[in-house]
Amino acid sequence: MDRLHNQPLPQPPCKLCYEHVEDHTHLFFRCRYSKEVWSAITCKAQIQWTYLPWGAAWEWALTEYDTGPQARIMGMALAATIYHLWQERNRHIHNQHYGSSWKMTEDIIHLIRDKLANTRVEDDLPSRIRRQWEVQ
Ligand SMILES: [Zn+2]
Repeated sequence: MDRLHNQPLPQPPCKLCYEHVEDHTHLFFRCRYSKEVWSAITCKAQIQWTYLPWGAAWEWALTEYDTGPQARIMGMALAATIYHLWQERNRHIHNQHYGSSWKMTEDIIHLIRDKLANTRVEDDLPSRIRRQWEVQ
C-alpha cells in the first residue's frame, strides 16, 4: 500500500485531444485542436504567430504588437482564443459536447469583428483592416 501511495499521480490527459498530458502550453498552443484554431485566426488577423510556452506567449505578444490597431486585434485574438479553448475544454468535461475547431474559429472571428465594429477603435481603423474584417 505504501508503495502505491508514494507513486506520483498520473497526469490527466488533454481534454481536447486525449493524446497528450494537459498543461497550459499544450492546451492553449500545442494541441492539434488549438493549432487548427490558431493558424486560422492568425491567418485572418495577419499576425505572425510564434509558438511559445504559455507565459512567454503573452510577453511576446505584448512586445511584438505594442500599439495601434494591429496590437488591439492581437489582444482580442489572444483573449478570445484562450477563452474559447478553455470553454471548449470544460464542455468536454461536463457535457461531452464536441465542437469543431472550424466552428470555434468562426465564433472567434465574429466576436472580433463585432468588437471592431462596435467600439471607438473603429474610428482609427485603417481601411485595410476594415476590409480585412468586413467592418463598415
Ligand atoms: Zn491536446
